[in-house]
Order: sequence, then structure tokens, then C-alpha cells
Amino acid sequence: MDHGSTQVNNHANQANLEASGIANMNLGQGEGVYISTYGCQMNVNDSERMLALLEMVNFVPVENPEQASLIIINSCSVREKPVHKVHSEVGRYRELKEKNPRLRIGVAGCVAQQEKQKLLKDVPVLDFVFGTDSIDQLPDIISRTYASKEKVVAARFENEKPYSVETLIRRPGVASFVNIMKGCDNFCTFCVVPFTRGRERSRNLQELINDIRSLIKRGTKEVTLLGQNVNSYRSDCGADFAKLLQTLAEDTDIQRIRYTTSHPKDFNQELVDISQKYRSKICDYIHLPAQSGNTEMLARMNRGYTREEYLDKVRMIRAGIPGVVLSTDIIVGFPGETEEQFADTVSLCEKVRYDNIYSFKYSPRPFTKAARFADQISEVEKQRRLQVLIDVQREISFDLAKEYDGIEIEVLLEATTDTEGQLQGRTTQNKLVFLQAPESLIGATVAANVVKAYPSVLRAELVSVVGQQSPGSLQ
Ligand code: SF4
Repeated sequence: MDHGSTQVNNHANQANLEASGIANMNLGQGEGVYISTYGCQMNVNDSERMLALLEMVNFVPVENPEQASLIIINSCSVREKPVHKVHSEVGRYRELKEKNPRLRIGVAGCVAQQEKQKLLKDVPVLDFVFGTDSIDQLPDIISRTYASKEKVVAARFENEKPYSVETLIRRPGVASFVNIMKGCDNFCTFCVVPFTRGRERSRNLQELINDIRSLIKRGTKEVTLLGQNVNSYRSDCGADFAKLLQTLAEDTDIQRIRYTTSHPKDFNQELVDISQKYRSKICDYIHLPAQSGNTEMLARMNRGYTREEYLDKVRMIRAGIPGVVLSTDIIVGFPGETEEQFADTVSLCEKVRYDNIYSFKYSPRPFTKAARFADQISEVEKQRRLQVLIDVQREISFDLAKEYDGIEIEVLLEATTDTEGQLQGRTTQNKLVFLQAPESLIGATVAANVVKAYPSVLRAELVSVVGQQSPGSLQ
């Protein structure tokens, strides 16, 4: 199928490295690299990309910083005290640097993007700082710090360039994560992402399909499509997110498709219809961040929907995809939030009955509008509201878990666990499942009976194998 792409180079990174001569450099000399990762799945993916690039130039990943000649802190600034966390972690490495003059220490991710030179100035032990758009420059950055002890900052957004990357995963698992877009144009008033990840840019559809096909060849059965706002995906050929899902379902052998994160304002009927049509592949799980259940608060947050519109989306999704499981993000104690407005959030959660909520106390972020709002809520009150919400949700989650007791489920087995003979996998509703099964079944889809259901985990017994993994495909 032609999706309008004529110029797709799926091996751009390796080719670029080779062209720059870096791929042939013995930059790491077989020494260790240690990466400590904070934050979301995007950051986890970025760290994996860094490790894959660094392996190409002969660094070896190690489990602890004492063994490393290169340490990178991949930071996150979405949650509290991010800069403080970077300072305190780097402080722990100061002594290592005194012992090992070859040791180079750098900061990546959102804090790096946000602080740039200031971070180098404030933390003299650092050698380099690079932002979310500069990951592929990493071998070059390291090479410069080794060559001249130069301190390097690389934190420019490449907003004008097309977003083209090959997913670099050293050893893809049964379930793999693939970035489909980056950045965000929504400017929610509490969120730093538009400042740390730049404007929205989407990957070309055909490049993505080729990328995922190559992961499938290496053993991937399930792919999670990642983006700050996946519903705004738009390929340069015009394909939108629904088209991407359809193409993946029709044109590849992927068994399961997940995606995160969806923006409620952009979740439309077409997406519901596509999810229903390709239900055998598109998972019955949607993370739909509400952030608040009060219309005035939502307007102050610049979320682009009202409480009623959000509830309409929930009704539309549940009508079109019966049995779908929903989760959400909630912020409590947003500036100006009254007790009544908070009560609206609690009632939203009671009404929707999410399987799971990720709830956070509001905390101001640099550059954001809400950080300048005068009516900040006290820490004590935020903590109280958070606890109220957690207690309400705990009851709902326990209640919903009971529905799983004794039923038969289908599980894609992903990996071994620390318990001998036990494997873990997930249902299409994203429930984590533990069961006893031979390791040879990793990659297989099995039927299992739930023997004990907890809110976040199901314990089950193997019944039968439904779909076998392709032999020898996992690398
Ligand atoms: S949609 Fe809002 S909360 Fe999500 S990344 Fe964009 S600005 Fe942040």
C-alpha cells in the first residue's frame, strides 16, 4: 500500500553514524555506561535509544555507576523537584570522578532541555547536557568531551526538521514501545512538556510501518504507540491516527496494538469505530486523562473540554467498545480549586469507575501559566484531597477486580518473573497476570483461569495455548 512516502530511510541513524565516522570509532573502549532514568515511558524509550547508540561505539551497559566511565541522568521535569533530584544524584558521583579521570557525566531529558547552560554552571562536575531533540548527537557529544574536556550543551529543538527515527531497541521484547510523534501544541496551563519536548511532530506513516515490521521480525507481538497526544498524529502524507491504526492492523502481522496518551478533546467516533472493527488487534484499554471533573477548573487548565463533554466521550467509547477498560490522570489542588470543584473530580471518578487512576498533587512547573496563578492551594490541603481521592478509587478498583474472579482470560505471555516457573503477561485490558508456565511459552497467547484478582494484578492458572509464538523469533 502506498501512503505517499517516497523518501523513507529506515536506517538513518546507523547510516548517519557511519557517514560521520563515529560508528567506526572505539569511543567507549569497552568501558561501562550507566544511565539512570526518571519519568515516563518516553524517557525509558529515549534511554534505550541512547544505550543502543552507545553500544555502536563500543560502550557496554553496566548495572551500577561505580563500573561506568560514562554516566547519564535522563531526567524528568513533570513531577516534583526535578532539578533538585539531578543535583542530588550528581552529588553522589563526585567522588567517582575524582577516582576516575576518564569518567564523563551528563544530563539528558526534560531538565536538560529546560536548564541548558545553567545546569553546567550550577553543577560544575557535569561534562555535558543534551535535550530531547539531541539524542542522536550523543556519540559526537561524548567524543568532544573526551577530545578536549570541552563542556558541551546540545539542547536546540529541531522544530523545522521532519521527525524521522528508526526505533533502536537492543533486544526487543514481546511487547515493544514505538514513538509515533513527539512534542505537544496543547499548552495545558500546568504542563511543562511543550517547553521540554517542543512542538508536535509526527513520523511518516510508511516509516512507522516498516519500523514495526522489523520489530515483528525480531519477536515483537505487541506494540504500544507512544506520543504526548497520539490523537493529533498526522503523517506528512495526510494519514491521521485512525489511519495509522487501520494500516497497522491490516498491513502487518502485529498481534496487539496499544497507544498512549490520548487527549479527550481529540478522541472521536472514527477512532472508536476503528477500534471496534479491528478489535482482535487493538487492545480494550484506553488511558483518557481527565485531570479534573469540574468545568471551570478544566477551562483554567486549558484542557479544551467540559465535564459533560468528557463524560460524553466516555459514553461514546463504552457504547462502541463494550468491555473497554479506562484509566485516567487527575491533578488535585490545582490553583483556585475549591472544595466543591474538588468534589466534582471525586464524583467524576465515581461516575466513570476507572480501573485505575494516576493522581497527583498540583505542583508549579517553570515556564507554565499556572505557576503564576496567585491562588495556590496549601500543601496540607493538597495532601488531604489526594488521600480522599485515593481512598475513593481504592474501593472502586477492589470492586472492579472482583469481576475477574474465576473467569477465563486471554494472556499474551511476555517474560519470566523472580519466582521460579512463573511467567507474566497481560490481558488486552492491560491487566498484569502472573501464572505458572514453561519459559518456552514466552510470546504465546494462552487461555487462563483467574484464581485471585487484585486491583493491579491477576493470579491465574494456565488452561491452554491459544496462539503459539513463532519459533526462534526472539532475539
Ligand atoms: S496535552 Fe496538555 S498535559 Fe498532555 S503533554 Fe500536552 S500540554 Fe502536557
